[in-house]
Amino acid sequence: MKIGILALQGAVREHQQMVEACGEEAVPVKRVETLAEIDGLILPGGESTAIRRLMDRYGFTEALRSSELPMFGTCAGVILLANEVVGQKSGHLNKLDITVERNSFGRQVDSFEAELIVKGIETRALAVFIRAPHIARIGDGVQVLSEVGDKIVAVRSKRHLGISFHPELTNSLVFHRYFMDMVSEDISHKIIV
Ligand code: GLN
Repeated sequence: MKIGILALQGAVREHQQMVEACGEEAVPVKRVETLAEIDGLILPGGESTAIRRLMDRYGFTEALRSSELPMFGTCAGVILLANEVVGQKSGHLNKLDITVERNSFGRQVDSFEAELIVKGIETRALAVFIRAPHIARIGDGVQVLSEVGDKIVAVRSKRHLGISFHPELTNSLVFHRYFMDMVSEDISHKIIV
């Protein structure tokens, strides 16, 4: 499988290493044309408003809105995938029926590490939170995968995986493997259809 990593800003190289550690090919995506060559796309963390500006400039906003590629958003990436962002008039890509709230873990704890339980696969994963958002609402077809206290921090729908944190800054491959499974399911579904 070829897994693209949107390479406009943020932790691109770290995601690339995680994808390769899962035994798959990682493709940095700097141009919309590359979207046609990949089976799934990772939207890395960084700063969502800055990434959005770059996505507009390079034609990614429209291309990704209409794309059926499976997508995995981490931190700023889940903000980009959400239908609603608290305090903003509209979402960016509107891929996941969730509401996200930015920077929602308090000023004094801008960064922290936590061990999470991933529901459904009952696996533990290490996660680094950096000025992280949380998921304040989920819609139909969205499933909660992990929580920290009473805050939802990982969700999935059929083709989209969204998490508040940075697994690529740990050596825990759990969420990357989870996404690879979603992508391979999507490919086998296409072959059957
Ligand atoms: N706080 C950032 C935002 O709102 C996200 C932080 C991150 O990706 N580490 O976009």
